[in-house]
Amino acid sequence: MRYVGYVIGVIWSMLHTLFGLLLVLIYWPRSIRWRKGCIEMVATRIIGFKKPASGAQTHGIIIYGTDLAALNNIPLGVHERKHVIQGFVLGPFYPIAYVLHFLVLYVKVKAGWTDGIGTGAAWKRAYRMIVFERQARRAEIAYESGNAPDAWGS
Ligand SMILES: [Zn+2]
Repeated sequence: MRYVGYVIGVIWSMLHTLFGLLLVLIYWPRSIRWRKGCIEMVATRIIGFKKPASGAQTHGIIIYGTDLAALNNIPLGVHERKHVIQGFVLGPFYPIAYVLHFLVLYVKVKAGWTDGIGTGAAWKRAYRMIVFERQARRAEIAYESGNAPDAWGS
């Protein structure tokens, strides 16, 4: 059943995965591997990350990491796989909903209707408020604090 759900999810989120594949032309990965249902690549550059910032970005079942340390970071892996699941649920509507929510929040932060979350540039404070980011962050924190040991699996 788990397997069937995975296959349906992969198909339903295929457009976003293909978009992620196109990003190879910009992100220029140095390495690629298969891990826990996802294609993980170490990118030379990722839009939104300025060196030496470390992190990851997910498109469909493709996860780009700024470096191997980011991809080997299990709590971050839990976070990124939450985005994979979100894509499995919403399919092609996921990236659209994600970007639309970001734009609404960005306008709100810029207009001073909210401070957003955390510090830094307006886009970063808006980005952290995106419902999908909040959910992924919650999963990451739950795993980190030992409250969701199954989130990563065996
Ligand atoms: Zn995220």
